[in-house]
Amino acid sequence: MFGLIGHSPSLTQAHIAARELGFPEYADRDLEFWCSAPPQIADTVRLTSLTGETIEGRYIDSCFLPEMLMNNRGKTAVRKILNAMAHAQKYGIQTTALGGFSSIVFENFKLYQMRQVRNVQLEFERFTTGNTHTAYIICRQVELMAERLNLDLGRSTVAVVGATGDIGSAVCRWLSTKLDVQDLLLVARQQDRLEALAGELGRGKVLPMEEALPLADVIVWVASMPKGVEIDADGLKKPCLIVDGGYPKNLGTRIQHPEIHILSGGIVEHAIGIESKIMRIIGMAEPARQVFACFAESMLLEFEKWYTNFSWSRNQITVAKMEQIGQASVKHGFSPLLLEVAS
Ligand code: NDP
Repeated sequence: MFGLIGHSPSLTQAHIAARELGFPEYADRDLEFWCSAPPQIADTVRLTSLTGETIEGRYIDSCFLPEMLMNNRGKTAVRKILNAMAHAQKYGIQTTALGGFSSIVFENFKLYQMRQVRNVQLEFERFTTGNTHTAYIICRQVELMAERLNLDLGRSTVAVVGATGDIGSAVCRWLSTKLDVQDLLLVARQQDRLEALAGELGRGKVLPMEEALPLADVIVWVASMPKGVEIDADGLKKPCLIVDGGYPKNLGTRIQHPEIHILSGGIVEHAIGIESKIMRIIGMAEPARQVFACFAESMLLEFEKWYTNFSWSRNQITVAKMEQIGQASVKHGFSPLLLEVAS
């Protein structure tokens, strides 16, 4: 059995989810209530691979909300993620993906130093961040959308916002080795980490966001922002492809311009279908087929019986591991979500 630890992208969405999943006592309650709510196994998820094998998993809502980070509730966030992990392990789940902010909280608050959760000693090999598959899917989205838009990546400038993150650094490794884009712009806040990444890659220009965005043919947005930023379409190149891989979405604006193509990043579609209630609630446009790539990673590990924390720690994702999970992804029927482009 695989597991998915997730959370709603906002308190408002959490109320909707609680009502739809049959937890009316959680609906319409304030942040204070959600801060004290325990994790819940909220859904059963089933899917069948192209190989014919069917697997089943559980979706565990940690009851974490991004608002907790905006309101200095770090300790609550920590408790939420640790409790959800302990819950998954006690339930006997083989491999559980830490979706959305779960792995970010895990790393930023050094939860690897907190193995003991009451009477449960966490076994970290039972968890995966899912970031290797997410990074692979985002890179394939860039590659395939560039083909659809007739963008020659070898002559394109790609800006990665959140470049020093776990997903961002993996995307940069792929873009600079497998796709060999013309210019790679690295954006984040901490300069020392940006310089270290440029050193590791042997390329990449470090630029502030406001200078990088107007230069980019492609923007990959994978910053861990609890709330999306507003950007002005006038300042962007036309055409421009934006792959927004954030959860919650990094882009706060709803840009409507025929030459600005915005794609939800890190989402896969399954060839046969996924049985669940949760995919619609967590925002999949086609819930019977679509799932976050990080969740799909725990499904792939279950299909392949790779019972290991495939994606773990920070900034360790190699191109070889992205290729490995990518092959499993194709084999079991997943493909990257793409945009239809009018010809
Ligand atoms: P990390 O915490 O590892 O990295 C975050 C990156 O964003 C860092 O480079 C950080 O650098 C940068 N960043 C944070 N805030 C800002 C800001 N205000 N302006 C510019 N840069 C910023 O995160 P992950 O790589 O694990 O995750 C990235 C995103 O992907 C998250 O939104 C996450 O929820 C989402 N995600 C999506 C998945 C999917 O399946 N689609 C799966 C897993 C994650 P610095 O601090 O120096 O600014």
